[in-house]
Amino acid sequence: MKAVVYEGKGRLALKERPVPVLQEATDAIIRVTLTSICSSDIHIKHGAVPRAVPGTVLGHEFVGVVEQIGEGVRHFRKGDRVAVNVETFCGQCFFCKRGYVNNCTDANGGWALGCRIDGGQAEYVRVPFADNGLTLIPDGVSDEAALFTGDLLSTGYWGASLAEICPGDTAAVIGAGPTGLCCMMCARLYQPGRIIAIDVDDSRLELAKREGLADVTLNPLRDDVEREVRALTEGRGADAVLEAAGGRDTFRMAWRIARPNAVAAVIAMYEEPQILPLPDMYGKNLIFKTGGVDASSCGKIMELIAQRKLDARCLITHRTDLEHIMEAYDLFENKRDHVVKVAMRV
Ligand SMILES: [Zn+2]
Ligand SMILES: [Zn+2]
Repeated sequence: MKAVVYEGKGRLALKERPVPVLQEATDAIIRVTLTSICSSDIHIKHGAVPRAVPGTVLGHEFVGVVEQIGEGVRHFRKGDRVAVNVETFCGQCFFCKRGYVNNCTDANGGWALGCRIDGGQAEYVRVPFADNGLTLIPDGVSDEAALFTGDLLSTGYWGASLAEICPGDTAAVIGAGPTGLCCMMCARLYQPGRIIAIDVDDSRLELAKREGLADVTLNPLRDDVEREVRALTEGRGADAVLEAAGGRDTFRMAWRIARPNAVAAVIAMYEEPQILPLPDMYGKNLIFKTGGVDASSCGKIMELIAQRKLDARCLITHRTDLEHIMEAYDLFENKRDHVVKVAMRV
């Protein structure tokens, strides 16, 4: 079968690989039908994900059909259409029991797919702990509508929950790329009074506005973001800040635009260390929450998709097939042609 293989820093290749087989009773083999490229794949390519293992098939954002199940799989059967969770997790360990599946202590737990074990930029993939890592796609929900359940929408949903948004609040989302847009979508579920989208790319800001994800858009290349956020909030600053950009100055922006006692949810994955200048923020009493998604809400997310309360199809700006995935990588990595997300049929 065809698969995208991470061959070491700076090197990806579409190669021929053997079709995966069941290894554990709790595994399932999924025939991938639609797959995508995540910015984490680009971080892996850049060598910025130390735990990524060279030789691994990339891809952790995809949907497909159950082809085969191990004898221990209870909730799925051959032929089921499923969305695959970015995190495979045991469901039994200290962290899993508390919903913190990103820190599952099993050898195959946490973000392993497409990082430490073969992922879904391929025709077939083995999914460990299939009962935990798969979500049934209901009839009436298309592959495109379900595609982002396990990673991007999970991240947005988790990020929005971290930010503790109350009805009427001003929520500022830094970054209007795929993650930021999903953060806005999920922040909206908490009925904020206003969502401010901040990005240096006007086409992304326009998308946020057009799709009703943001009420106000600010571009740091043109706007004094701190001043504008204060002007919108009677001088206080944003009640909740979601930092989803991971840029050079965006961590600083996050705590600068937050009002005293706000939550700053740092969802972004940085390629460099960031500075936390505690003396400068003394007395502001901020709450920082950081990290990588606990993708433990996929069932709820799928329900919201089926009810049309979450719809991330607007992120798909480009469509192609697995044969052309290396061209899609080039497009996505270099942000050509106003790309937000590429969906590849397999
Ligand atoms: Zn991802
Ligand atoms: Zn676990």
